[in-house]
Amino acid sequence: MTAPLDEKLEPIYQDVLRRNPGETEFHQAVREVLETLGPVLVKYPEFAEHKVIQRICEPERQIIFRVPWEDDKGETHINRAFRVEFNSALGPYKGGLRFHPSVYLGIIKFLGFEQVFKNSLTGLPIGGGKGGSDFDPKGRSDSEIMRFCQSLMTELYRHLGEYTDVPAGDIGVGQREIGYLFGQYKRITNRYESAVFTGKGLDWGGSRARREATGYGTVYFVHEMLKARSEELDGKTCIVSGSGNVAIYAMQKAMQLGAKVIACSDSSGMVVDEKGIDLKLVRRIKEVERRRISVYAEEKKGARYIEDGNIWTIPCDVALPCATQNELTAKDAKKLVEQGCIAVAEGANMPTTPEGIRIFKDAGIAFGPGKAANAGGVATSALEMQQNASRDSWTFEFTEKRLEEIMVNIHNDCFETADEFGEPDNYVVGANIAGFLRVSRAMVAMGLI
Ligand code: GLU
Repeated sequence: MTAPLDEKLEPIYQDVLRRNPGETEFHQAVREVLETLGPVLVKYPEFAEHKVIQRICEPERQIIFRVPWEDDKGETHINRAFRVEFNSALGPYKGGLRFHPSVYLGIIKFLGFEQVFKNSLTGLPIGGGKGGSDFDPKGRSDSEIMRFCQSLMTELYRHLGEYTDVPAGDIGVGQREIGYLFGQYKRITNRYESAVFTGKGLDWGGSRARREATGYGTVYFVHEMLKARSEELDGKTCIVSGSGNVAIYAMQKAMQLGAKVIACSDSSGMVVDEKGIDLKLVRRIKEVERRRISVYAEEKKGARYIEDGNIWTIPCDVALPCATQNELTAKDAKKLVEQGCIAVAEGANMPTTPEGIRIFKDAGIAFGPGKAANAGGVATSALEMQQNASRDSWTFEFTEKRLEEIMVNIHNDCFETADEFGEPDNYVVGANIAGFLRVSRAMVAMGLI
């Protein structure tokens, strides 16, 4: 695929391939981390002795179950759901649930694996896990969504708990779904255990800034990367793929910091609005009406909708992939670099292919990998857990301030770690190593468990 692996790491990777056949996204996520860990084993041979890397690549527990549910016409459907409890060295398993037809074990494992490092980088007490289902929520009524969530939770509840495993949202799972899931958990267990879910509604224990947090955090990260290069976001042209929760609030924060956002997208196509995206309109279409982004161009004069359009062909200074995995390829990366892009930060999980990352690195542009750049979401989930534990409710401003501090710390940690390991400016190396070190130290301290 890309760079050769250290000789101690190659057999570990081969073992991951052999033990997890066909799970290509998981292989990709593991390889990307292993490619950066060679120098760590030289500096800290104890991690090899304790087989930490082999252990970190094997989830602590994997749950797969059937979810039967009935649609509005009375027809029965069967979906498959997963929860991969990857690593609990730093705290209870923490990570979202994804509802999307592409979901299978390999996707959940890649997400769970990334989550371990990401959560470690936040510096907060959260382990890593991920779950989801191949259920497709598109076009489903509220009652169908509710019945699906209730059925899923009827099995999943026994694996959860505020000290055990704390899910949240991801693609296809937002506050509506968290409400149905939490409601069923509460009913079955007869416990109002607020901190068993994050991303809750504001009236029932949610954090005032959780919805904004991932997108805001990604832009704070870009802001810090640019600052480190004596640049700023003010006046820059920005493109953001996606139009879900992460994309919307990345656009909002980028605009607040003076950038001009000219394009966004969904899985059917993209809109380009040279005058600057009208965020109120995007929010109405996506958050209130749950319609396609094509509606934007129908309602906004001067905006273009391009069916199946490739957003990475639009010239920009800053690109924020906020949609899904492997959405930005080597060809796209080349085009972005050619057209003068100076910074890329991943709001989504693993949106850039390994070849794409290499092109950004070779071109010397600032590249913020998802583990670091989108960690603001899960960090704010950990803050939501703190509020629930103290039965408190923080203001938006206070929460956002904490989020900003956390993102600055993550940036500095990645920056300094990359420097320490002889790869200045390489945030991929910095994020992987800084995330790995904290989990690994905890794993060694806790013995062979
Ligand atoms: N799904 C989000 C992520 O990829 C958030 C997880 C959470 O808040 O627990 O990090």
